Amino acid sequence: MQRAQLLEQLAQGRRYDLAVVGGGATGLGVALEAAARGLSVVLLESHDFASGTSSRATKLVHGGVRYLAQGRLSLVREALHERAHLLRNAPHLAGPLAFVMPAYQWWERPFYGLGLKVYDALAGAAGLGRTEFLDRQAVLAALPTLRGQGLRGGVRYWDGQFDDARLAVALARTAARQGALVVNHCAVTALVHREGRVAGLRCEDRETGRAFQVDAGCVVNATGVWVDALRQQDALANGRPVKSLVAPSQGVHLVVDADFLPGRQALIVPRTADGRVLFAVPWLGKVILGTTDTPRQDLPREPQAQASEVDFILSEIGRYLVRTPTRRDVRSQWVGLRPLVRPARDDGSATRTLSREHTVQVSPSGLVTVTGGKWTTYRSMAEDVLSHCTRASFLNLSPSGVIKSVTTDLHLVGAQGSAGSPPDLSQPPGLHLYGGEAPEVLALPGADRPLGGGLTEAMVRFAVRREYARTVEDVLARRLRLLFLDARLAARLAGPVADVLRQETGADPREADFRALAASYLPSDPAGSEQGA
Ligand SMILES: Cc1cc2nc3c(=O)[nH]c(=O)nc-3n(C[C@H](O)[C@H](O)[C@H](O)COP(=O)(O)OP(=O)(O)OC[C@H]3O[C@@H](n4cnc5c(N)ncnc54)[C@H](O)[C@@H]3O)c2cc1C
Repeated sequence: MQRAQLLEQLAQGRRYDLAVVGGGATGLGVALEAAARGLSVVLLESHDFASGTSSRATKLVHGGVRYLAQGRLSLVREALHERAHLLRNAPHLAGPLAFVMPAYQWWERPFYGLGLKVYDALAGAAGLGRTEFLDRQAVLAALPTLRGQGLRGGVRYWDGQFDDARLAVALARTAARQGALVVNHCAVTALVHREGRVAGLRCEDRETGRAFQVDAGCVVNATGVWVDALRQQDALANGRPVKSLVAPSQGVHLVVDADFLPGRQALIVPRTADGRVLFAVPWLGKVILGTTDTPRQDLPREPQAQASEVDFILSEIGRYLVRTPTRRDVRSQWVGLRPLVRPARDDGSATRTLSREHTVQVSPSGLVTVTGGKWTTYRSMAEDVLSHCTRASFLNLSPSGVIKSVTTDLHLVGAQGSAGSPPDLSQPPGLHLYGGEAPEVLALPGADRPLGGGLTEAMVRFAVRREYARTVEDVLARRLRLLFLDARLAARLAGPVADVLRQETGADPREADFRALAASYLPSDPAGSEQGA
């Protein structure tokens, strides 16, 4: 899987059944779905896989207890069933997690408990464990650092947890195994129209500037919060302006040491001061706190947290824990942009009231745009996209084989031969995240040379040779998550990682860029309105 070979394949100028723009959860899901059905597929990602929103999730594979409270039962049921498929198909990257909801008011335990029993019922056989009513002692045994004063008991329920960026890379690799050509660091620069119809695209390798043209029977725009850029370009070619589809909203996460919430169970705050849910989730040896829902007008690649968002998370979590975390305790902070779908009549109401469902639109010239939804439902979204393409007769489906989805039971790369028990995602990063491929990592040079934070030299080589990594950021942000866990440690590892990358790729690993990025993942002086810039 040499990059030069990927680019040579792109240069061949072959016509594909389907071209996907965007290598986040949505685009990768579509590419895998189509390739698994026997279609010829190319996917182009301008930066790295999951470098947009898809590496910045709360890492929950969930039906969404919040949507349950809103009475959106079909949305919850679908997600709960997708949760089961995901945990089965990627057992090395996703597993069940217990969530404890503490009750300080008399009505909270019966109210939330009954709601969560409905959650169990909607999951049916796809359930991960039964909701339990807990007394005060049981809650404190599960969450020893929870504030005990006034605590009456609580409820424990089950959902899933995963490593989002590694799952994205596993999707890319599985799609490639199914015959798709997937290329990261290659931006789509223009759509190609012929006789008023979208007939392909132009793209550019970001390392060399080399340009390519790809012809395709169908082009899917899966560029997350950035979908409107391609939609506008498509509309201009036809002289018909379009309204923007996305109302972006940002969500901030803070990461603190595990001693703030030791153990393997998560804390859920069912109702914050602004009426949302907030989580404290053990993940890869640390605890993730989040998130917020703040409307934004712009679409930066690296959005920054507002000081008020950081303060909000720290103070809300501080109401529940015996020790309140402060800015100094934050090891890393990251911000993701939700691609929320703007309602047809936009009254400018808060983004937290906007639907989390996905939307598929087919433009008059045939550009298929998909956005919204959530990580958990990437597979069913992909099925829906292909149904739209088929109905619009963009895909030349043969009568047998390709009509029906096969991805509900398609193991992702690394799943085969992985240990039978679910991964313990509360443990720091390490070989356990490689599933059945761990022996292959161990066989590479440098398996006995640790670089720090659970990373070995062999893992960097594996990231290049098997996982499409090109830069220090690709390795430390998305192949081994250290930027998201401890930005200072990640910055310290930039040099040694860059040295191995230079040996493996011969290209510039962009070490200095990574150091600057890592600095922006730490909270800065509370006086500024934007953090860490
Ligand atoms: C704070 C937050 C927390 C969340 N938590 C959860 C959770 O716990 N569980 C859950 O199920 N969901 C969660 N979600 C939702 C989930 O993360 C998103 O729905 C999902 O990641 C969106 O994926 P996407 O592929 O549509 O977008 P993205 O991941 O942003 O992918 C779009 C890709 O398109 C690429 N691109 C853009 N322009 C071009 C171009 N011209 N050429 C080529 N490529 C291009 C970008 O680089 C990007 O990689 C969360 C979202 C947020 C913001």
